[in-house]
Amino acid sequence: MIELNQFLCSQKSIDHSSIIICGIPYDCTSSFRPGSRFAMPEIRRVSEFAIEEFSFYQNNSLEDVSFYDAGDFPLMVGNPQNMVDIVRQEYEKYLKNQKKIIAIGGEHLITYPIFLALKKHHQPFTIIHLDAHADLRPGYLADKLSHASVFRLCLDEGLSKLIQIGIRSGTKEEYLERKDNSRIVACNHITELGQYLKKGENIYISLDLDYFDPSFLPGTGTPESGGANLHDFIQLLKILKESRIHLIGADMVELAPQIDPTGNSTVFAAKILRELILLMNHFCS
Ligand code: MN
Ligand code: MN
Repeated sequence: MIELNQFLCSQKSIDHSSIIICGIPYDCTSSFRPGSRFAMPEIRRVSEFAIEEFSFYQNNSLEDVSFYDAGDFPLMVGNPQNMVDIVRQEYEKYLKNQKKIIAIGGEHLITYPIFLALKKHHQPFTIIHLDAHADLRPGYLADKLSHASVFRLCLDEGLSKLIQIGIRSGTKEEYLERKDNSRIVACNHITELGQYLKKGENIYISLDLDYFDPSFLPGTGTPESGGANLHDFIQLLKILKESRIHLIGADMVELAPQIDPTGNSTVFAAKILRELILLMNHFCS
């Protein structure tokens, strides 16, 4: 691990923390604008000055949560297969120690090795996928390992249920697959989510930040208008708590800080990370 600044009030020791946050700085299959490999260092930097530990939405403070910022996975720029192998190995080390992980991309392909690691420990489980894009392509420009194919890869490797929310862009084939594939639930609005969840169901959250409208979060590689706002996301947290699911992990991907020179997108993402840590803590206690 490469030691960097810590996110807010991260614990000094991993031993007493059941929640781990880590950066996965990989963006080599980005199709339009790369830069998401710089997300986590920037999130840590702005968190110190721009984010309060307390959440008005969840009536809880990070100061009352034991989480550990484990730094960034050691990745080289380049070959996606190397990234898949390294992320899977590193992630499995934490799973063996009963840790719950919130991974910060990087691009969306990082969810694939996380899925491979998790499926050995939690079968079956459901991924709630928040995104502007369906990410169901069979490959992108002849490369099967692509951010645009990440859930195609997970389904091919046995993912039992994928709930997609916020999707508003993709190919005709992706559109039809969302209708016809019985393992995919196309959730049109966050308010419908509760009806698709069962008490005790293992849930993993994969949040592509272009789920949000670019008017709120322009700092992402492939912005897509017509997206969600913060209050939609807060509603998601409430629905998950009320549904009494079992949260097994989460990721937040595709923040490209330098695309938004105001820095507001990074502050937005840091706030979302605070809410994810508090959500995870709810399901730990
Ligand atoms: Mn995506
Ligand atoms: Mn996307």
